[in-house]
This record gives sequence, C-alpha cells and structure tokens, in this order.
Amino acid sequence: MTTIEHWIGGGTTAGASTRRGAVWDPATGRRQAEVLLAEPSDVDAAVRSAAKAFESWREVSLSRRARIMFAFRELVHRNVDRLARIVSEEHGKVLSDAKGEVVRGLEVVEFACGIPQLLKGEFSEQVSTDVDAYAFRQPLGVCAGITPFNFPVMVPMWMHPMAIATGNTFVLKPSERDPSASMLVAELYAEAGLPDGVFNVVHGDKTAVDALLDHEDVAAVSFVGSTPIARYVHGRASASGKRVQALGGAKNHAVVLPDADLDFAADHLTAAGYGSAGQRCMAISAVVAVGAAGDALVERLRDRARAIRVGAGTDPDSEMGPVITADARDRIVGYVDRGERAGADLVVDGRGLTVPGHADGFFVGPSLLDHVGTGMDVYTDEIFGPVLVVLRAGSLDEAIDLVNANPYGNGTAIFTSSGHAAQRFQRRVTVGMVGINVPIPVPMAFYSFGGWKDSLFGDTHIHGAEGVRFYTRAKAVTSRWPDAAYGEHHRTHLHFP
Ligand code: NAD
Repeated sequence: MTTIEHWIGGGTTAGASTRRGAVWDPATGRRQAEVLLAEPSDVDAAVRSAAKAFESWREVSLSRRARIMFAFRELVHRNVDRLARIVSEEHGKVLSDAKGEVVRGLEVVEFACGIPQLLKGEFSEQVSTDVDAYAFRQPLGVCAGITPFNFPVMVPMWMHPMAIATGNTFVLKPSERDPSASMLVAELYAEAGLPDGVFNVVHGDKTAVDALLDHEDVAAVSFVGSTPIARYVHGRASASGKRVQALGGAKNHAVVLPDADLDFAADHLTAAGYGSAGQRCMAISAVVAVGAAGDALVERLRDRARAIRVGAGTDPDSEMGPVITADARDRIVGYVDRGERAGADLVVDGRGLTVPGHADGFFVGPSLLDHVGTGMDVYTDEIFGPVLVVLRAGSLDEAIDLVNANPYGNGTAIFTSSGHAAQRFQRRVTVGMVGINVPIPVPMAFYSFGGWKDSLFGDTHIHGAEGVRFYTRAKAVTSRWPDAAYGEHHRTHLHFP
C-alpha cells in the first residue's frame, strides 16, 4: 500500500506523523493508498521551512520570479494528462472533466507569469514642493492554503501561483481524500527551479488545519471548502491576527424564463447539475422554472438525466463518475429519500444504481425532483451530489426574491432571450458570480472568483487582481531630497504639514 508523505523544504518526509487516512478509489470502493496526517510539529516544520525560504525568496527579482512561473507553466502544460489521471483516480471524476480543471488551474499560473506588470506601483511627482509620493506592494510572508476535495488541482492553483509570484512562500494543506496531485505539483515546482521551502505540502485533517490557523508565523490563510468550516477558519485565523479569505459552500440557482430556448437550457443545466456528479461549488443544484417554462423544461431535463452514462472516471465512455466516498453516497441517497417523503415529485431516481463490474464503487445516479418547496432539506442544504431540484415561480421578480432569500450567494444563472430580463436579474441578484445563458459562470483567471453571503467570509475574492491584493500589502512613501546648493531654507514649522 502506497503511503503519501508530506513535502517540506524541497523533499518528501514522514515527519512525526503516525496517523493515516484512507485514500479510496471511488470507482471500485478499494482503499488504494494511505496518506499521513500531520501533527502540529509537522506543520511547524513546514512553516519554519517556508519562513526561512521567505528571507531570500522575497529578494528574488521580479523577472526571475516570472521566469520560474513560466517554467512551471510549461511543466504543468506538459503534465496535464498525468495530473488529470491522478485526479480521476482519487476523486472519481471523468478524465475529460479532470483535464478541464487542470487547464483552468493552469490559467491562473499563466496570469501569475505577468507578475511584473501586476505589481507595478504608483508614483506622483511634486505632491508638494520638491516632494514625491509613491506606493508599492510587498509580500506578507508565509501564506497557507487549505483546500477541498472536489478540485484537487484547480483550487490550490487559485492560491499558490499568486502567493508565490507576489514573493510569499506557501504551505498547502490539500484535502486528505485526494492528496496525490499536490505532490506532483510540488515536484514540478522543484523542476521549474523554485527554491526549496517556497512551496510545501502538509497532509492532514483538523489537527493540521488548526496548527496552521494558530501558527504565529503564518501571515495569511486562503481557505476553500464547506460553509461551516469556512466560517470557523475565518473566525479562528482572524482572531489570531491573520489576513483570511474563506470561500464556502453553495446552492446555485438557475432561473429559466419561458422565453428561453428550452433545449439549450436543458442541455446546459444537465451538464451543470450532474457534471462531476454534482460535486462542484458552481454546480447548478436548484432550477427555478418561471411560468410556462415549467413542465416543458422538466420533461427535457428528465430525458437528458436518464441518458447520462455513469461509470468509472477513467473509462472514456463515462460521462459521470462516482462520488467521493461511501458516506457521501449514503448522504445523497438520504436526501432523495427525504425529498420524496416531503412531497416532492421524484421524476428521475438515481438511488440503487449499480455499474456493471463496479459493484462496490461509490455510485449514485442522477436524480431530478420537481415541485420542491423552499422548506424541504433537498432545497435548504447543499447536497453536493447529482441531485437537481426544480422549484416553480410565477414571475422573474418572484424568482429573484427566491434566489436572494437563500443564504448562499456563490453563483447563479439566468436562461432567457430577453436582454431586459437579464439586465434586471444581474442588477438585483445578491450573488457574486452571474451567468447569462451560461450555467457555470466561473470567472477567468484575470478576473477574481468569489461568492457573497455565506459563500465567502472575508472581503477579498480569489486570484485575478484581488488575489494580488490579498497576498500583498501596500507601502506608501513620501520623499524629499533637500539640497543646500539650490538655496533651500530649513526652518522649523510646528503646524501639520
Ligand atoms: P470541507 O469543508 O469538508 O473540507 C475543506 C478543507 O477543510 C479540507 O482540507 C479539510 O481537511 C478541512 N477540514 C474539514 N473539516 C475540518 C474541521 N472540522 N476543522 C478544520 N479543517 C477541516 O469541504 P470538502 O467536503 O472537502 O469540499 C466540498 C465543499 O467545498 C463544498 O461545500 C463546496 O461547495 C465547497 N467548495 C467551495 C468552493 C468555492 O469556491 N466557494 C470551491 C470548491 C469547493
């Protein structure tokens, strides 16, 4: 059985870890590896290594930092298929989807390659007689990233290229459920010429997370995961004086107006609801069908959900893979049971699905529930599985009120052929990322990613310009160079300058 170790100071180490976590193959239900779970002393070793590396990394020229990022970019690009396979084997998502996540992560690396441009400061000459003012941004020190299981390559890449390019050093605590991709990323950084200690990986659970949140040498924490843990991480790390961005869970609504192309909407909602077995923070999990759109849309969603080919992620014929663990499967099935009992109309039932040759895999088929009420837990909770619920609304404004009443505010979408309706929706909706006839509006790397309300704690979104700001702090300088040769007189003034 393979044991996955930490990556500290430029190489693998078991440190003081003795506890182990299981890494499953979700398609077969087999335990395929074990990951070490860090003790506080392992976290301390990683942070100390990063703090030491910071002393010299912060002095490395911008062009050299950019050159290392370019080299890393080439290596990730060359290893897209290898990274995607690791993701598919441990997470379960289909290979094409895994490849997509690696490429979206790569886009952040490409953005970080432009760091000399992104870090240009501001300068104003002659703000007073012979006085200049300027401002520039400096790195914070050791930054930590704590990431979820559902995007083991992309979500860490929202963080570490930005933190490292801006001159920080980094300790990543990836999800213990699919830890291997982070080890290949560490190797690729080393091959790209990144000095030892600039990028470190500690595997672990709550013990490792708490040690990072409390460590006095960690300056900033980026977290992505579920809302309860995001809220906790934000509170605890803020209390110990750190800068924190903590992105949480979601319940993303798609509003479908009767004037929409319903076939187009159904195709995209099927992909957004069931892709990656619904385990995306930007998955559409609630459809709000307005007026006459309802029955015709549900019919189309039903036909498409029934046609999805479910199988192992590494099988090229599969469109949807298993979910991450047996517990996740049982939890999802429990939601479908309760939704049906609460009176929702179970249009497609994904419970009890078996995939030939994979009897012990963590599979659950696509489910579709119609006439769902806002009080049912299939609606109030983030299920994080292949379950799409349909609610009905009488008008666009009623649909907007419904979306806004939900405590989450990560992503949302509207399907319509009316520019006016789309404009009203984008202006009024209290959600951070909005799609217009685009079901999963994940911003490109040169914008910033982030939700509102219970989907984000802290005020900075991730990557893009906000990422540069998060990982740096501004310094403003006011400067004068008096020269007696030019007859400057020096007198004492006690008034405020
Ligand atoms: P999770 O919250 O269980 O875990 C996230 C991280 O926190 C992991 O590294 C985990 O080890 C750690 N953790 C778990 N329990 C902890 C505890 N009690 N104390 C301290 N640390 C703890 O999330 P997950 O199940 O891995 O991922 C799925 C969740 O992530 C979903 O809610 C999804 O919406 C969310 N997510 C959000 C975004 C976003 O951008 N907003 C992106 C991806 C995933």
